[in-house]
Amino acid sequence: MEVIQNLLANLIPLLQVFGIFVGAYLVLLWAASVLWAYRGIRRRSEDISVQVLAVSLVLLLPFVGLPLHLILRPPQTVAEKYERELEQEYLRRDLEEKFICPECQRPIEPDFVLCPHCFTALRRRCGGCQRVVDLTWSVCPYCGDDGSTPTAASRQAPTVAGAVYPALARPGEGSR
Ligand SMILES: [Zn+2]
Ligand SMILES: [Zn+2]
Repeated sequence: MEVIQNLLANLIPLLQVFGIFVGAYLVLLWAASVLWAYRGIRRRSEDISVQVLAVSLVLLLPFVGLPLHLILRPPQTVAEKYERELEQEYLRRDLEEKFICPECQRPIEPDFVLCPHCFTALRRRCGGCQRVVDLTWSVCPYCGDDGSTPTAASRQAPTVAGAVYPALARPGEGSR
């Protein structure tokens, strides 16, 4: 009986010390979680009320508040969000710069004379300088050719788009 009493007398202070250590560790862990939540939320939201709410959740509900905070916090940091918006803006601009056939809406190159998909005439080749010019221009802006002086080159390759493309557009393929 005396042996057990001695053992207990020795064990209790030991347990007390152990308990103090565990308690101190838990308090530190809680304080660290509050600090971590504070740093994290500042990168995720610039809204003061969101920051206060997130920190007080972790502060007032030790350990229980942290998982809640992880679920409720904004998924992206402000920097990530900004980066993604920038990326989307570039993508959108890239798409807008792509040339599209007015007839079939498929992508074309800016110097195409006809759409390779639906054979719609897009531009014409100048008879004087062989450059690609707009169908609506009556005079070539590069060489001043107004189409009235047919050259050898223009006779070999007719200049007016409409004269060339019906021949290319085989029946059944031109009306897509
Ligand atoms: Zn087309
Ligand atoms: Zn020209």
